[in-house]
Amino acid sequence: MPIRQTFWNIPHWAEIGQYILSLLTLIIFTYGVWRRVRRWRMGKPERRTDQLGNRLRSVIVQALGQLRTVKDVYPGIMHLTIFWGMVTLIIGTALATIDWDVTHLFFDFQFLNGVVYILFEVILDIFGVLLVIGLGMAIYRRYVVRPPRLRDVPGRNLAREDAYTLVMLTLVAITGYLVEGLRIAVTEPTWAAWSPVGNALASVINSFGDPTNQTLHLVLWISHILISFTLLASIPFTKLFHILAAPINIFFRPLHPVGALAPARYTSGPGVEQWPDFTWKQILDFESCSRCGRCQDRCPAYTSGATLSPRDVIIKLNAHLWKRENGNNLHGDVITAEELWACTTCLACVQVCPVFIDHLWSIVDMRRYLVDEGQIDSQLQDALANLGRYGNSFGQSERMRAKWTQPIQPKIKDARKEPVDYLWFVGDYASYHASLTDVTSKTAEVFQKAGLDFGILYEGEKNSGNDARRAGEEGLFEMLVEENTSAIGLCEFNAIVTTDPHSYNTLKNEYPAEINGDRPILHYTELLDQLITSGKLNFSKKLNYKVTYHDPCYLGRYNEVYDAPRRIILATGCQLVEMPRHHDQSFCCGAGGGRIWMDEIEVKERPSEARINEAVGLNGVQVFAVTCPKDVTMFQDAVKTTGQEDRIVVMDLIELVHEAM
Ligand code: SF4
Ligand code: SF4
Repeated sequence: MPIRQTFWNIPHWAEIGQYILSLLTLIIFTYGVWRRVRRWRMGKPERRTDQLGNRLRSVIVQALGQLRTVKDVYPGIMHLTIFWGMVTLIIGTALATIDWDVTHLFFDFQFLNGVVYILFEVILDIFGVLLVIGLGMAIYRRYVVRPPRLRDVPGRNLAREDAYTLVMLTLVAITGYLVEGLRIAVTEPTWAAWSPVGNALASVINSFGDPTNQTLHLVLWISHILISFTLLASIPFTKLFHILAAPINIFFRPLHPVGALAPARYTSGPGVEQWPDFTWKQILDFESCSRCGRCQDRCPAYTSGATLSPRDVIIKLNAHLWKRENGNNLHGDVITAEELWACTTCLACVQVCPVFIDHLWSIVDMRRYLVDEGQIDSQLQDALANLGRYGNSFGQSERMRAKWTQPIQPKIKDARKEPVDYLWFVGDYASYHASLTDVTSKTAEVFQKAGLDFGILYEGEKNSGNDARRAGEEGLFEMLVEENTSAIGLCEFNAIVTTDPHSYNTLKNEYPAEINGDRPILHYTELLDQLITSGKLNFSKKLNYKVTYHDPCYLGRYNEVYDAPRRIILATGCQLVEMPRHHDQSFCCGAGGGRIWMDEIEVKERPSEARINEAVGLNGVQVFAVTCPKDVTMFQDAVKTTGQEDRIVVMDLIELVHEAM
């Protein structure tokens, strides 16, 4: 009967040596994990134990199923095969240990026999092959293809560090197969065909003869044991630690809406000055990074040539936890102000990270410190000062906020004075920016023609604070929230609507729930989509333009509003052509997180210009449609600077609706 021949050809001294080594490995491994956990515990407290069912589901889908990882096909398959190859071999080793050291020792019984053992051998052989394939793919990609997202960080040779993992894993797999092949070659079991790889190797090795094969078997068995235990013991001290930290990080991932930024903690100040100012979860984030570089690939700041790479930020912060060669001051020695201010808060990195690291949260926490210290771009400082003094970033009087309404008849209702169905939160750019007030007036006309009962807050409205918060000015954000909340609190309405995705995000996800109660907060595209679907808004003209649509970060990635704008475009009779990067892959315009207020950074190509070039590359697209006032200004400017005025025109979607009515 097939049965596992544990310690076949292994002398007693080697068997004893293996037990001593395994104990030593366990001690080193436990010490390594303990020092990591001790480091996490040095972070600020935070509660992450709610919704246990959802958390477990995340681990199953994302850690075991690797759902985000496989979205990127080549590295996804590569990682999946290595992961499951390793997991299966570890489970196999654990079963073999129980079979011999528990059931055999204490009950004189081996469950790895007969059909069970055959299955055990087949599964281990197949997953071992998958592991070897995955490792081959990884070595080819890492050392032949060498994609930029795997490049080294200053002062660290990541290629060399990765070589340790890849070489050790490959040696474990190869020596394991050879040991099996040599055992089969000498013992010639009847079930050998069920170990296809071992059997194939045995047929090659057979010719060496039994005495040689037995000696080779012992030498390779000892090598296999030494390499495997060294690899296991090194897990908590190398990049391999992510195989433990990542599932834990996924378990503790944020489950609140992605648009809700964690508030400042006001420990030694409002931000993070030194690494222990991070929470334990942020520290766990840094330790979970597998350095896959997906976040860097998607980062508009990095791809445009700015100094920021979200991958490097996480790698450097992790190294800094252990105070190696990269200096002791978090700000300056490890992370520079230029890196932090380059972030557009587009959320692409957070959304693509397979282990659910929240780069943005840590970046904003560090920005909060810079703001507190006055290490801030002068234009941003002016904009924030204007927000504090006037409630708008333009530094204009509050009384000018509703100047755009003056020519509009009938007069737009003041929602503070009379009840309305829809309270329109207009936003700063739509209210004050000279080239946008025409679009804002058209929005009012569309609302009026659609028969909506709506009103605005007039000078009672202040900037929503979404971008001030992401620029790191938490105190100012809190002040703006308070002022807007009291103004909105005076109004009677059934829903809030806004044209500005930034305001939409913070009103919906960050303002106190009492501003709306159960009443909906809508982006204007959601409202128009509802009106069109219910037949309350009809078009008299079919426009026939060839249109491409840009998903704004704060509407798409932050709030998953993707379909309503597209349905409206189609309803106006236009043809919709998607850019290569659309929906959650959309590419940021470069204005978010306060960047619109800051001095331009020297870059290869501005994100907005890259986006216009992407659209112009589509066959015959005439209109670049946007649904964010900031996008109108960013992309109109980019059309000019790229010299594409003759080929494409930037329009707010409301202009298409206005024209089609
Ligand atoms: S939020 Fe966007 S800009 Fe900021 S680091 Fe992430 S990908 Fe880059
Ligand atoms: S932060 Fe996430 S996406 Fe970026 S390199 Fe690390 S694991 Fe990959």
